[in-house]
Amino acid sequence: MSLFRPKEILKIFTDLDIPRYREQGFEMVLLDVDNTIAAPNTGSCDERARKFILDLQKAGFKVVIFSNNNEKRVKMFLGDLKADYWYLAMKPLPCSYLAVCKKMHVKPSKTIVMGDQLITDILGANLSGCYGIYCKQLQEKDSKMTAFNRRIEKFIWRNVLHEEV
Ligand SMILES: [Mg+2]
Repeated sequence: MSLFRPKEILKIFTDLDIPRYREQGFEMVLLDVDNTIAAPNTGSCDERARKFILDLQKAGFKVVIFSNNNEKRVKMFLGDLKADYWYLAMKPLPCSYLAVCKKMHVKPSKTIVMGDQLITDILGANLSGCYGIYCKQLQEKDSKMTAFNRRIEKFIWRNVLHEEV
């Protein structure tokens, strides 16, 4: 199996079947921020993202906002929303995935990772034994670094995963 292959592909994060994953025994969701649940670099937690996070928590999931961006950005996203968070996550390196799991007392095998990038979010999920769910990017607009990653990802989708997304 390719390390870039997500376990599921969603058109948007709100498509996650929360009860089904809860029934399957998953206990935690690590959520990427930029272009997964908010506009890249500027988006705050809008009503849709807030409802999604609260729905996860109500269903019994531990939720951790899990971003490669800095603390200021993550706090800007959160606003007054109460959720655990982890910034400068250095995705795809598995160390911070494993550190979050340890801190939250959840096994990687019970942890879902949702993100919009194969070469950070999903690769790291597969390397650390978490369950990676790919969410299509919310907006076409990306930071320079992400735009570069995106070009590599197009190649991976086409030539490694043989899928058009
Ligand atoms: Mg992202």
